[in-house]
Amino acid sequence: MAKSDFRSLPSVDKLISDERIKELESSYSRTLVVEVARQVLEESRESISRGESAPSSDNLVKSVADRVRTLAEPTLRPVINATGVIIHTNLGRAPLSRETIAAMDAASRGYSNLEFDLDTGVRGHRDVHITSLLCRLTGAEDAMVVNNNASAVLLALTALCKKKEVIVSRGQAVEIGGGFRIPDVMRQSGAKLLEVGTTNCTYIADYEQAITPRTAALLRVHTSNFRVVGFTEQVAIADLVRLGEQYTLPVFDDLGSGCLLDTARFGLSLEPTVQDSVSAGAALAMFSGDKLLGGPQAGIIVGRKHLVERLRKYPLARALRIDKTRLAGLAATLTHYLKGEAEQKVPVWQMISMPLAEIERRAQAWAECLGPLGAVTGGESVVGGGSLPGSTLPTWLVVVKGSPKAKGPSLARKLRASQTPVIARIEGNALLLDPRTVPPDEDQTVVEALQNAVGAFKP
Ligand SMILES: *Cc1c(COP(=O)(O)O)cnc(C)c1O
Repeated sequence: MAKSDFRSLPSVDKLISDERIKELESSYSRTLVVEVARQVLEESRESISRGESAPSSDNLVKSVADRVRTLAEPTLRPVINATGVIIHTNLGRAPLSRETIAAMDAASRGYSNLEFDLDTGVRGHRDVHITSLLCRLTGAEDAMVVNNNASAVLLALTALCKKKEVIVSRGQAVEIGGGFRIPDVMRQSGAKLLEVGTTNCTYIADYEQAITPRTAALLRVHTSNFRVVGFTEQVAIADLVRLGEQYTLPVFDDLGSGCLLDTARFGLSLEPTVQDSVSAGAALAMFSGDKLLGGPQAGIIVGRKHLVERLRKYPLARALRIDKTRLAGLAATLTHYLKGEAEQKVPVWQMISMPLAEIERRAQAWAECLGPLGAVTGGESVVGGGSLPGSTLPTWLVVVKGSPKAKGPSLARKLRASQTPVIARIEGNALLLDPRTVPPDEDQTVVEALQNAVGAFKP
């Protein structure tokens, strides 16, 4: 290292007096600019002591400007989901309807009667804004909402089963993904998990033999993200309820996705509906707001009034409560179901019910823009999000043919680096895009990103 290298570094004052950095001060705080300038100079000193040469003053200015701008840029960005996985947990699950977004916007702009009774002028409860909607839609006596379904299950088990036993089929003591494991949630709640039956088969007698005076509830968990095929046996919720009645034990149903519509109508395998669970007699049914319901993140609990009341009053409920914005959004999404317009208005259902001919037409339009590098092939979309395991929808996929130097993974990287990142599916060396999960008004953005990606690799 040469002393002259250190000496060639400007002072902080000198560095920030550069016009290009001064300009930053109109959009960013001076404190931030000075701090970043110090940091960049300090790092340069360190790299010089490691034997590297001093950066030019031009490079120093650029480093400071880039870093200040990057710091102020959001890291959470909109992306285009061309994977064909409709409820993609890593990509934020359900996109929201226009009316839902408007309701969330309205609730966040100013004050609201969130917990305020406009008739009496006294304190109210936030649940009132969704209780009657949920009761009407599901047939339940009462309903409440918390942060997410993991919270819902945790709250129910903690408030109602702490220090007691809860019986679950071994085939349902599952991991949903993202660290939600039924045995772990159970431990967290202070309830003791009693697994009965075997991985593939559990019979009503298995539950009955495990019932003791310490039993607090029977729990059914919808095995959302996998399917056991072949020789299997699980007990129907109605049978579980009948057993529960014999021993005065409540049955809790963790439905996962919580569907309100008949999925068979859409050519999908049957997803248990919340209405079925309630009418079968489940004391509590719990499900997510942002899976097949197609709303904002939420955990919904519906069921018997005396139990929901106990959950509402339990101190943990306060820690798991939902905020006003999502509550407003959830009410708006539920209203689509009340009006019978979910299929037309809720994006998740629009995607599920998108006509195959329309998908084919869009896939062909995308492929055409790629010339000889694009083709269309039949394939499958996935509902995802732990809904309808093993159930898929026929679709049309755009296949992007790479060159030997530009295989699927490198094209996918290019697409992710687009101004609006496009997330595609990679199968082996092929890159596949499914128009089903892309809103039609984004077609042009996808085409441009594709052209850029393959253009950059054209031989
Ligand atoms: C998805 C899921 C959960 C977790 O729901 P979140 O809303 O993500 O907290 C719990 N149980 C089941 C069966 C699920 O499918």
